[in-house]
Amino acid sequence: MTRKFIPLLAFAMLWSIIFSSDVLANSQQPSREEIMQQRMDYYVKYQDVFVPWFHLAAVDQYERNIQAVRKDIPKREGTVALQFSEEYWVGPFNPNFDDTSISSIQYFGGMGLDGDGDGKADLTNDDDVMYTMKMYLSQYGPSEDDYKMALWEYYKNEQVVNQIISIARLYKHYNTIDLDTHVFPVPVRGYNYSYRGTWGASRGWGGRRIHEGTDIFAGYGTPVVSTSYGIVEVMGWNEFGGWRIGIRDNHNTYHYYAHLAYFNKDLKVGDIVEPGTMIGGVGSTGYGKEGTSGKFPPHLHYGMYKFNGRTEWAFDPYPSLTQWEKESKKKK
Ligand SMILES: [Zn+2]
Repeated sequence: MTRKFIPLLAFAMLWSIIFSSDVLANSQQPSREEIMQQRMDYYVKYQDVFVPWFHLAAVDQYERNIQAVRKDIPKREGTVALQFSEEYWVGPFNPNFDDTSISSIQYFGGMGLDGDGDGKADLTNDDDVMYTMKMYLSQYGPSEDDYKMALWEYYKNEQVVNQIISIARLYKHYNTIDLDTHVFPVPVRGYNYSYRGTWGASRGWGGRRIHEGTDIFAGYGTPVVSTSYGIVEVMGWNEFGGWRIGIRDNHNTYHYYAHLAYFNKDLKVGDIVEPGTMIGGVGSTGYGKEGTSGKFPPHLHYGMYKFNGRTEWAFDPYPSLTQWEKESKKKK
């Protein structure tokens, strides 16, 4: 009896494993490409002559970026990350914060609109929030200046406007939202380099500062390339960083490259760069007045800063660098 029972039980267990893994396979999360396509479909659906798709996409991406790093704002569930405050949506004097009635929202001066035509203006509905943002932006117009004005009126913060404009320019230029590729900042072949995780180590020069970045030691003139898609925001001399470049990407991240021996002469503030774009060469400039060089061994100081909608803070680039180095080595 027991002998017969055990194989049967084993069979039942095996069956349940096969069955559950099958269920798991069917309920799998959509791939990164599928998610990108779903988002793109929304932007294209709600674009028109007054609101190009990349204006909708850039606001949505900015909102996604800040939700990823802020604890005081909710993470929006859905394909699009765009979200409005309840007060903005239902109207400042509306006693019902969850109001979805178009007529009562209108009565209380709320901005919420019905995008999918189900007769409700629902803050949790992707179509409704996209349509509401599109109608807001279309009051201003299609040019970058119009867009800037609309963003300023909405966010009242110059840094936020600058960040969103940068994302929109990148999306427009590459005609895609899929700009997540990264590379290591110096060539992984043909040059010698070394780096360690030294996050938070104290610095001697310039008083009590901690090290906000990773130093990649390499010979003078070793090419330095952009690790990401982005826009050149800062380029010039800084007494700590020497000749340095700051590049803002589409993830609210500011990439900082310091102590360069020289710049790529074709590059200027406002230019668009992509992973692998040459920006300059490794040097030892800095720690003094303009032109000071040779106070330390040549290296690239690479820093990463995240903008959360209010402030920008440094985070450790070392884990990203090791990841990008691995990926760059895999490529031909
Ligand atoms: Zn450094």
